[in-house]
Amino acid sequence: MSRQRRTVRIVEKRTIPRAAYVSLAAAAASAALLFALWRALKSDDLEIPLARSIEDVQLEWRCEDGHIFTAPGAATPIPCPTCGKDAYPIAQFQCPVHGQFDVFFRFEKGPDGRLVPTEVKAVGGKWEPFTEHPRCPKCHRPMIRESVDPLATKQDPGSG
Ligand SMILES: [Zn+2]
Ligand SMILES: [Zn+2]
Repeated sequence: MSRQRRTVRIVEKRTIPRAAYVSLAAAAASAALLFALWRALKSDDLEIPLARSIEDVQLEWRCEDGHIFTAPGAATPIPCPTCGKDAYPIAQFQCPVHGQFDVFFRFEKGPDGRLVPTEVKAVGGKWEPFTEHPRCPKCHRPMIRESVDPLATKQDPGSG
C-alpha cells in the first residue's frame, strides 16, 4: 500500500506544462502534412529526407488536355511540352465507389522560398485546400492513395 502511494507522487512530479504539448503537436502536424505529401506523390521513394526540396524530385505531371510527362517539382502551373496548356503534378487516388482519379496538386513558393502544396483537385472536380484525402469529383467522398505504400502495409487495415 505504501509502495503505491510513492508511485503516485513520482508521476505527479513529472507534469509538463500544457503549452509544451500544444507547440509539439503543432510541429508534428506540419511535419505530418509534408510527409503526407511525399507519400502521396512519391510512394516508392520513402527515403527522401524531409529537409530536401520537392524541386529535387521527379514528379508525374499532367496538363488540362491529359498529356502526361515527367519533370521536377516546381511552382505551378508549368506549360505542357506537347500543347502548352497549364500542367500540374498528379497522383492517383481511389474513391471507394467511383474508382481511380488523377489528382492535380498546386504548388506555391512560401515566405521562406520553399515550395508548399496549397491546393488539390481531382480531374473533373474543383480546387480545394491541400489535403491528404482529396474529394471524389462525383460523390465528394474523401479518396485514398491508389497504390499501397510500404508504410501503410505496416499498419493494421483496422476497422473504420
Ligand atoms: Zn498538353
Ligand atoms: Zn466517388
